[in-house]
Amino acid sequence: MDLANKVRLIKDFPKPGINFRDITTLLQDGEAFQQAVNDILALCGDWEVDLIACPESRGFVLGAPMAYALGKGLVLLRKPGKLPGKTVRHEYNLEYGTDALEVHEGAILPGQRVLLVDDVLATGGTMFAAAELVKKSGGQVAGMVFLIELVGLEARQKLSEYPIVTLMQLE
Ligand code: 5GP
Repeated sequence: MDLANKVRLIKDFPKPGINFRDITTLLQDGEAFQQAVNDILALCGDWEVDLIACPESRGFVLGAPMAYALGKGLVLLRKPGKLPGKTVRHEYNLEYGTDALEVHEGAILPGQRVLLVDDVLATGGTMFAAAELVKKSGGQVAGMVFLIELVGLEARQKLSEYPIVTLMQLE
């Protein structure tokens, strides 16, 4: 199945001029969702990792089945104010606006190899912040995996120090 056909393009969301790739149409198709998770695991499932970490909120949707399949722990990287315990924080630029990510102190232990997962790689700002959280926690970024890479936004340069695999490359 061509998974790219399952992703819906919504123009001018969340702001005029933004072409939003909507993955809800892929997720609600059981076969497509299963294939997406299996295909992503085939890309990176043999990487040596101790933990999966994923940014809120669509990263959770892919990170959770991957962690389950690999038998690894799942660490949630959340928007400010969502995590109840003490957190480590990093601010970043989005494709549209600015934001910050937080992780619980002690969720990632020094030396742990962390696989970062998200649905879409656009400018790379979110994953750059996620990687900073891993490093501030003392962990190592084992690699990054995405369902969709939006090509031409220079994310690869921003994240050039990390191994990256992406299942679909879209204009
Ligand atoms: P970046 O930080 O790389 O610019 O943007 C990636 C983050 O924003 C991801 O967490 C992703 O969920 C969200 N994002 C940006 N553009 C899109 C898009 O077109 N579709 C979806 N589903 N998410 C997007």
